[in-house]
Amino acid sequence: MTEKTIVAATGNAHKLREFREILTGFTILSQREAGFCGEVEETGETFAENALLKARAVSAATGLPALADDSGLCVDALGGAPGVYSARYSARRGFCGTDPKKTDENNRLCLLRDLSGAADRRAHFCCAVALVFPDGREFTAEGSAQGTILQEERGEGGFGYDSLFWSEELGMTFASANEVQKNAVSHRGRALRALAERLKGV
Ligand code: IMP
Repeated sequence: MTEKTIVAATGNAHKLREFREILTGFTILSQREAGFCGEVEETGETFAENALLKARAVSAATGLPALADDSGLCVDALGGAPGVYSARYSARRGFCGTDPKKTDENNRLCLLRDLSGAADRRAHFCCAVALVFPDGREFTAEGSAQGTILQEERGEGGFGYDSLFWSEELGMTFASANEVQKNAVSHRGRALRALAERLKGV
């Protein structure tokens, strides 16, 4: 791949940092640095559809290759929910929590409530990444990370559901892991490394 500058089609600062740490060898601009201030509606039914929607929109608007991810938590006992709705889980379930502006916190509280008493707490994170070029070429890859949902939060780092997600591979929650540890086994790390493999020779 000759183009080494790509724009990250995400407004999430945590994801941007993970993109930069995992995809070394590329200059990754934030949306803002590339002059994109819009919001892309996630109307897809799969992680891959949503990643492509975001990457296509940002590439078309900036004229640069755009990298997007769509990711979420799939909980076995909830039939795979919240899945593609992970970011909006508590709002969709009508759970307001103590502060309606604290979306991640409300999502975690809602998950704990929905899993209260559940013996089966298996879950996995899923991530689809898409890289779209202004000339129309599109590449996608996926990754996942297996774990279980704890009864209470543990760890201070990360975002989203990290403090509830116990990774067997790490022997700790994603929120207790440092960035290198999390990226080594995370859904996003795996998807981005698979994408980098596919881009070799492109
Ligand atoms: P989206 O991909 O921006 O639509 O949202 C994904 C949502 O899934 C986030 O808002 C988090 O709630 C959750 N999520 C995705 N990846 C992670 C992760 O690495 N750690 C914790 N939560 C995550």
